[in-house]
Amino acid sequence: MALSSRTTARPPRPTLEFEVVASERLSAHLVRITLGGDAFAQFEDRPETDKYAKLKFATPDGHPVTRTYTVRRVDHDARTLQIDFVVHGDEGLAGPWAAAAQPGDRVSLMGPGGGYRPDPEADWHLLAGDLSAVPAIAAALEALPADAEGVAVIEIDAPDAELPLTAPAGVAVLWLVEPEHDAERLASALRTLPWREGRVQVFAHGERESMKAIRRVLFDERELDRGQVSLSGYWARGRTEDRFQAEKREPIGQIL
Ligand SMILES: Cc1cc2nc3c(=O)[nH]c(=O)nc-3n(C[C@H](O)[C@H](O)[C@H](O)COP(=O)(O)OP(=O)(O)OC[C@H]3O[C@@H](n4cnc5c(N)ncnc54)[C@H](O)[C@@H]3O)c2cc1C
Repeated sequence: MALSSRTTARPPRPTLEFEVVASERLSAHLVRITLGGDAFAQFEDRPETDKYAKLKFATPDGHPVTRTYTVRRVDHDARTLQIDFVVHGDEGLAGPWAAAAQPGDRVSLMGPGGGYRPDPEADWHLLAGDLSAVPAIAAALEALPADAEGVAVIEIDAPDAELPLTAPAGVAVLWLVEPEHDAERLASALRTLPWREGRVQVFAHGERESMKAIRRVLFDERELDRGQVSLSGYWARGRTEDRFQAEKREPIGQIL
């Protein structure tokens, strides 16, 4: 008799309805939304520093769409969590929603998931990305041990997008200001960095084509192992997140 095997699927995480309790402009390009309310009791925090949640937005035709955002900080005493949204103009749903959000507004959230946290055994740390990855990079920098060494390279398109970040003394934070988009820019910056001795742990996330360029530096030129690198696209120029996510099944959307 053939044995049948049954897989036990993890129960889907519940969709939690949070309330906006505060909104703060960190710069002209980033808005911090603090979420709270009764839903916090069901929010299961995680140890990763890149923890991300799926936010659901209603569209005018009633069709809900999902957008992915990093949970920048969880405050268990205040029972709130914070998400920093890039304000990238009138296009899209999440960016414009966050720019206009007021206390009392509501948003549905699923998650979090997570994939990276600083390895205290790494000899040095390399963090790279654009403004969309600043929440995750900032959380990682804050979680590094005080004696950690490394560098964070962040590409921005305007000088006033730069933010004060808290990092150990041995971790330099470099802001690369480039008004004209060039997918090779961040990779070129990494290529010219003084490469330190020892085992590096890498966290690199941001615009998809920039991440593909970085992939070549990390794997082809520096010959790093997959296990020491966290690399993915967070968004793709000219694509909504729905299209960006769908393209992950096609060659154009694949980074690793
Ligand atoms: C794991 C993960 C974590 C993320 N964390 C964050 C985060 O903490 N903060 C954050 O702001 N984003 C984050 N992102 C990126 C975010 O999901 C996308 O930027 C998303 O497309 C924004 O949705 P939207 O509705 O504003 O725009 P969409 O409707 O998806 O896109 C509309 C248009 O805006 C463009 N666009 C989208 N994002 C940007 C951008 N950042 N800059 C310039 N143009 C853009 C698109 O290319 C498209 O042309 C994360 C993504 C992932 C996968």
